[in-house]
Amino acid sequence: MERQRGLPMQALPDAGLDRIARLAALALDAPFAAVGLSGESCLWLVARVGALPPMLPDWTASTAVVIEDLGSDPLHRSGLLAQTGVRFWAGAPIVGADGAVLGVVCVMDTVARPARGEAVAALHDLAALACAHLECQVAARSHDVVSGLPGRHQLLEGLNALGPALASSMATASPPRVLAVIDLARPDELSHMFHAIGSEAVDGMVRDSAISLRRIVGPEMRLFHLTAMQFALLTPPGADVGTLTQQLQQDLPRRDVGRAAAFATTCTSGLAVITPGEAPAVDLLRRAHAALDDARSRRAPVGIYSPDQDSACRRAYTLITDFAAALEDQGSLRLVFQPRLELASGRCVGVEALLRWTHPVLGEVSPGEFVRLIEKTTMARGMMRWVLAASLRQLQAWRELGIVLQLSINVSPANLEEADFAKHVLDSLVAADLPVTALELEVTENALLDEISPAMQQLRTLSSAGVCIAIDDFGTGYSSLSYLQRLPADVVKIDQSFVRGLTRDGVDEGRRRTLVTAMIGLSHDLGYRVVAEGIETQAAADALRHLNCDEVQGYLFARPMPPAAFLTWYGQRPWQPERRAALPRMRAAIGAS
Ligand code: C2E
Ligand code: MG
Ligand code: MG
Repeated sequence: MERQRGLPMQALPDAGLDRIARLAALALDAPFAAVGLSGESCLWLVARVGALPPMLPDWTASTAVVIEDLGSDPLHRSGLLAQTGVRFWAGAPIVGADGAVLGVVCVMDTVARPARGEAVAALHDLAALACAHLECQVAARSHDVVSGLPGRHQLLEGLNALGPALASSMATASPPRVLAVIDLARPDELSHMFHAIGSEAVDGMVRDSAISLRRIVGPEMRLFHLTAMQFALLTPPGADVGTLTQQLQQDLPRRDVGRAAAFATTCTSGLAVITPGEAPAVDLLRRAHAALDDARSRRAPVGIYSPDQDSACRRAYTLITDFAAALEDQGSLRLVFQPRLELASGRCVGVEALLRWTHPVLGEVSPGEFVRLIEKTTMARGMMRWVLAASLRQLQAWRELGIVLQLSINVSPANLEEADFAKHVLDSLVAADLPVTALELEVTENALLDEISPAMQQLRTLSSAGVCIAIDDFGTGYSSLSYLQRLPADVVKIDQSFVRGLTRDGVDEGRRRTLVTAMIGLSHDLGYRVVAEGIETQAAADALRHLNCDEVQGYLFARPMPPAAFLTWYGQRPWQPERRAALPRMRAAIGAS
């Protein structure tokens, strides 16, 4: 019991065990008595009567042991116990529910003496009492004090106990059950409740919720309390997922939570059909959590585990954990460059740097997949710094060839929250000996919703220093028109979703045309230069020219390219003044690459 559950021996002494030791001393009229628990190779005395050391040699046996005179006992007379002056020993084993000997209730004396049969029987009773007491103690420690329910550890133990050994044949596998993780409030709601009603009232709400949950799901289900507002439920074999989903979806939000019901909480549950033993218990629980996560992200009340979604989730986890190495590793990350052209003249006026990642196992990973994951982590800072450094090196290399282009880099919302972001960008430009106008930063609208946010301050600093700011994916965010007026930006990049289908006929396309017309007109009126992204057809380019769009970017003109391919493409462009000046050195560079 105690050893298997990993409780430290020293943590167990308590008044109950002290009383048992006192009763043992009384029953045998002895000066020394103890309750000892078996340790590695010793007996920890967790309750003592008389001046006994904290531990003794392990003398536990499966039956009672009485040695009336250690001095004349050939086995023990030279042992450690005899050396301490003990002459008399009587001990009864503490036997756990599973039959394991956990320790002993014992009495000792410094003089040899007989032991009466009733006294030894009393010792047995006291050992049984000690066992029951210890069992209660462990149970109390493993149940949540607020809800009274067993916790995560018990759930995992229970799952492990239900399944056959993982290595054994699945023919003996136990039948499927449903494991549900039930979140009664989102973390922000919980924090709001602590703030608004205090921890005692929250405890009351948790207690009420545990009672309601039990009532809703019925007595056959096993309930566990995982974290403050999170419960788990394990059904008996063959439970119906549909019925449980309905209960969790309909009855749970209406549960009776007393006074605290006035506070809005969002109940979300994740369900997984599991076969105990098919995977380690932690993995079974992880599946239910994955379903919960999925439900939360869809804002649905209930999510059901799907292996496909799970593998996507695991892939995301792999990408996040491996990106740190990619930042350090030479060659995993690289930049490709997509030209931006002035629509009226066809001149290449800028280039957008786009990040590429070759994962050592997964191969090429699109930024559409990894950037959105990384930018939610602290690695957003490292990613931005890597891209900035590589971009500035590229700008220097082009300038050495006589190619003067503005380079745009994408900035994640998290980067704008960095207190030293603007300073880092400006310092890097100075260190690279490049003018501030060489760089454009692309930010999305949603990064800038709050006008007094640190993000806005960072952009104002950069903008007033002369760095060009572009609003990327314009039209897909939530910004209002009045807010657009106050943005410290120079360029609006209309998202490709608006450009797509611009030239087709149909109600949606007609609306889209109207929208793009309005976007371009409004942006011009507010003093922005307008760039359209994702131009794939000549018809789209013509339509945008007709609408007075300033610049374009898209596969029609060029795909994102590695530096060498970009040089070739640039060298083949129709005449541009700076291109003519650069031509001889470019030819040499292209030849060399
Ligand atoms: P974005 O900044 O809006 O970049 C434009 C995306 O559209 C690029 O995808 C580009 O390859 C693609 N594109 C350009 N022309 C066309 C076209 O004509 N048709 C189609 N279908 N697509 C076109 P990419 O390189 O996969 O990047 C996707 C997004 O990932 C970027 O969208 C940007 O939001 C993010 N991203 C890429 N590199 C970085 C980076 O270095 N840092 C950050 N924070 N985000 C990045
Ligand atoms: Mg961009
Ligand atoms: Mg974009």
